[in-house]
Amino acid sequence: MTDWTRLIRDVPGFPKPGIVFKDIMPMLADAQAFAAAIEALAAPWREARIDAVLCIEARGFLLGAPVARALGAGMVPVRKPGKLPGAVIEQRYALEYGEDALQVQADALPPGTRVLLVDDVLATGGTLAATRLLAERLQADVVGAAVLIELGFLAGRARWHDAAPLRAALTL
Ligand code: IMP
Repeated sequence: MTDWTRLIRDVPGFPKPGIVFKDIMPMLADAQAFAAAIEALAAPWREARIDAVLCIEARGFLLGAPVARALGAGMVPVRKPGKLPGAVIEQRYALEYGEDALQVQADALPPGTRVLLVDDVLATGGTLAATRLLAERLQADVVGAAVLIELGFLAGRARWHDAAPLRAALTL
């Protein structure tokens, strides 16, 4: 299987000075690496009977949609405010400086739907924790979360509180 991890690029100083951004675009652009990365994300969940994948804006869409296809599941976008039409529910969460919010359509899923959360990078964990709260407010059954890259030194996993399995394809 192709080593997709070698196509994850460090971009120092993006989007702000002091941050080293993990850029997954070179990996996505390579057909074999993209396929291998999707397989790495999806494989642990093959027997988990996932009904829908909650995909977190924006790079979570790029990974979550093919993971949903690989698992025979649907996909539900979790978006920044103002992007989704109709009735939505919103979850605010703290950033290092300030606050952000995520929304999902209020009728996105029937209660009891078995969901997997997918994002590209787990950093401080706020985004994934907020998405879990949204899923719980939809009365979904959160089976787990899959991230491509976990930045272990930021300890974002602590904010997940072991609510369900959280699997990273690559831990840095
Ligand atoms: P957290 O809420 O601090 O865990 O940040 C996770 C969110 O920020 C995810 O939706 C990521 O897409 C994004 N993010 C944080 N750091 C990086 C990075 O180095 N590369 C790509 N995305 C990142």
